[in-house]
Amino acid sequence: SDHQLAYPSSPKEMVWANHFPKYFPSAIAADGDAETKPSGKQVEVADIGCGFGGLIVSLAQKLPDTLMLGMEIRTQVTEYVEERIKALRIQHEAEGHYQNISVLRANTMKFLPNIYEKFQLSKIFICFPDPHFKARKHKARIVSPTLCAEYAYVLRPGGIVYTITDVEDLHKWMAKHFDDHPLFDRLAEEDLKDDVCVEVMRTDTEEGKKVERNNGSKFVACWKRREDPEW
Ligand code: SAM
Repeated sequence: SDHQLAYPSSPKEMVWANHFPKYFPSAIAADGDAETKPSGKQVEVADIGCGFGGLIVSLAQKLPDTLMLGMEIRTQVTEYVEERIKALRIQHEAEGHYQNISVLRANTMKFLPNIYEKFQLSKIFICFPDPHFKARKHKARIVSPTLCAEYAYVLRPGGIVYTITDVEDLHKWMAKHFDDHPLFDRLAEEDLKDDVCVEVMRTDTEEGKKVERNNGSKFVACWKRREDPEW
């Protein structure tokens, strides 16, 4: 359950220094208060329902200059990813690796625009979301008309939504919702063949590995966010 979760009232309230101290170093101001220096960088990649963090851990060194945030609703799973990243940072302290990834406990179905500014993100990943098979549970799916509008709000024009699932019915559901939304254009396989992120979704997510072991299918679909229409 998520009712004890606190959300910032606006993205300006997000304290990114706790997540990315290398990029948002704190300084002690003259009055003795800790002050966070602004960083040129901001989080650009969100992994919705990141689970155990396989995707962001794998992307950390493939996109070393990009700040990436895993978002996960389960407390213990979030804590596991926090510990995983902390250990990787210590292990690779000399090279300064893994400073660009972090995790946030959040219900991504709520308040996404309180966390990210409009157009802040360049990539959103939705990897192996919970299928919620029964029709009466479909409202719990993390793709819906309302949520597509929120993804379009936080994603910049030209940004990409990546989805993967082993459940064909859910793949069709996600495809229908993004296809129907006026701000998303489906990408062709050809457009994605050199995109390292697609391979990472397939092979480096914990669910992707599980599906591989069980010889399951993996359905990938991605959309590019359009420019806002001119009024
Ligand atoms: N993406 C990971 C992967 O591919 O290995 C994990 C997939 S797992 C099947 C789905 C994850 O989404 C679970 O860890 C679950 O707790 C999380 N989740 C479900 N609903 C969520 C929500 N509303 N907000 C954040 N995380 C959520």
